[in-house]
Amino acid sequence: MANVKTHTFDAVIVGAGGAGLMAALYASRSANVAVLSKLYPTRSHTGAAQGGVGAALGNMEEDHWEWHAYDTVKGSDYLADQDAVDVLCKEAIDVVIEMEHMGLPFDRFPNGRISQRRFGGHTNNETQKPVMRACHAADRTGHMILQTLYQQCIKHNVNFYDEYQVVDLIRVGDQVRGVIAIEIATGDFHIFHSKAVMFATGGWGRCWEVTSNAHSLTGDGAAICLRRGIPLQDMEFFQFHPTGIFKLGILITEGVRGEGGVLINSEGERFMKRYAPTIKDLASRDVVSRAIYLEVKAGRGIGGKNYVHLDITPETVNHYFEEDGEKRRIDRDYIEAKLPDIADFTRTYLGVDPVKEPMPVQPTAHYAMGGIPTDVDGRILLNANKDILNGMYAAGECACVSVHGANRLGTNSLTDLVVFGRRAGKHMAEYVQTAPLEPLPDNVADDIIARFERIRNNTGSVKPYELRQQMQRAMTEGVSVFRTEETINEALEKLQQLREAYGSIQVEDKSKQFNSDLLEAWELGCLLELAEVTAVSAVARQESRGGHARDDFPERDDEKWLKHTLCHKDADGTYRLTYKPVTLGRYEPKPRVY
Ligand SMILES: Cc1cc2nc3c(=O)[nH]c(=O)nc-3n(C[C@H](O)[C@H](O)[C@H](O)COP(=O)(O)OP(=O)(O)OC[C@H]3O[C@@H](n4cnc5c(N)ncnc54)[C@H](O)[C@@H]3O)c2cc1C
Repeated sequence: MANVKTHTFDAVIVGAGGAGLMAALYASRSANVAVLSKLYPTRSHTGAAQGGVGAALGNMEEDHWEWHAYDTVKGSDYLADQDAVDVLCKEAIDVVIEMEHMGLPFDRFPNGRISQRRFGGHTNNETQKPVMRACHAADRTGHMILQTLYQQCIKHNVNFYDEYQVVDLIRVGDQVRGVIAIEIATGDFHIFHSKAVMFATGGWGRCWEVTSNAHSLTGDGAAICLRRGIPLQDMEFFQFHPTGIFKLGILITEGVRGEGGVLINSEGERFMKRYAPTIKDLASRDVVSRAIYLEVKAGRGIGGKNYVHLDITPETVNHYFEEDGEKRRIDRDYIEAKLPDIADFTRTYLGVDPVKEPMPVQPTAHYAMGGIPTDVDGRILLNANKDILNGMYAAGECACVSVHGANRLGTNSLTDLVVFGRRAGKHMAEYVQTAPLEPLPDNVADDIIARFERIRNNTGSVKPYELRQQMQRAMTEGVSVFRTEETINEALEKLQQLREAYGSIQVEDKSKQFNSDLLEAWELGCLLELAEVTAVSAVARQESRGGHARDDFPERDDEKWLKHTLCHKDADGTYRLTYKPVTLGRYEPKPRVY
């Protein structure tokens, strides 16, 4: 068959965002590890994370990891597994300090400690007031994490295969034996034969029209798992961040509201006080996104359009900070120092200076709470009995531990990457010490090569970009901030038609080198499957919880639905749902209070 080269490693990590790099750093201490990434590592989406990484350091005011855990469970609408949440919040403290010691340039308080700011849903559990828990490096926290981890990986001689796109997983029974990738520059296929594989491939916000996610976030890892008999968990829960730049979806960090910014409707009203009287603009993202949607629906969008204003102008905002022991009202210098990228984005893309005028914002598809089911060591779970797929790991946004449950709190994704990336890396390093390198099946790459040749040589008339737009429209109309049985079923019907049409797509570029047309057509196949899994999981769940808000079932129903969804794809291509219990702990489910 075609030119296929085989490489052998103890472990292969797919993805070079925060989760993949953290795992690589730990695993490579005692194992021979390769990191494969379709992007140059420092272009991974982790680099776009703005606001902060959550850890209860208590640097400026009292805080405890248990408070962080409670906020996380409450924010998750009680769907998070509480044993995993404890691990997240306890280990967050140590891992943030570890990154500081690696050289991560955090902002600092005047006393020299890591600076922390407020973020939605993070509270002092006694007073219910917002607490400063988000450790940050201006509004470039993810950028700094990514650069720091990448430099550490280079220092420790991790083997990088940049611009290699993984397109299949080699699974034999209950064991993995490696992956198959395309070298983007040449179009050649490569087999990476290994004892262990980890997926850290990020999210799939590109299923929707307006998203904060990069073009590359097409859910490849999750879709490959689904095709190889691994179920996907809690896919109905996708987070819409309330403040995307109108039409473009580019994110305006919650840090803006953490620094005092407020949401305002066409009547000049700070409407969040009606929806969340205590915590107002800093309520959880699902609550704020729904509030914006309802304001727009009631005709209070700005100029009758589907957006509201986010205002951080010093004139409107009554927010103070401390400098040299003095309390000062925020001003241009403060905004430019704390939110430089945001100020830059809005000036560049909107011609709006946030120091002088409010910013037009609307909810934007942001974060996948669901994904590949794992335990707290990143090991992939195959079913509700928690059977393990030997040698297979996942961490980061593509995984579902589950610490975010039905709704993720801001800053908890970066925490998730570094805490569970580190644990998966450590576990994998131990696993490969004793696991044998089993032989590869014969002609293991044949099927996937044939699949690519079919896409390349198809003579159909359907253009991939048109299909993508139709999918994004169907998901935006049917499976968005609010949904009903009717809207989801309409989306499902459309998605099934699109699945058919996908069989007739035509790729214009037939060449081998840097054939982004071909790879994007393959990625579209991944997105279409994940969109369908999302809709299938969403139509079944007849309740409203966190990011899944059903207009036809507006209440949370713990009796029937305090459980995780697992969506399997059977050999005949049909989707099948099973459920597994939520691991409860110290916190009994309580009704939501806003
Ligand atoms: C604009 C924005 C701002 C955010 N701000 C915050 C914040 O302030 N705080 C917070 O906690 N969270 C934030 N988030 C969420 C958080 O940044 C992401 O959830 C997180 O960075 C995902 O990291 P990851 O390591 O899982 O994957 P990513 O960083 O997305 O990296 C994915 C990696 O997988 C690789 N990859 C994917 N598919 C393949 C394939 N087929 N073959 C080979 N390689 C592949 C890519 O090349 C890339 O290296 C933000 C997200 C966005 C979009």
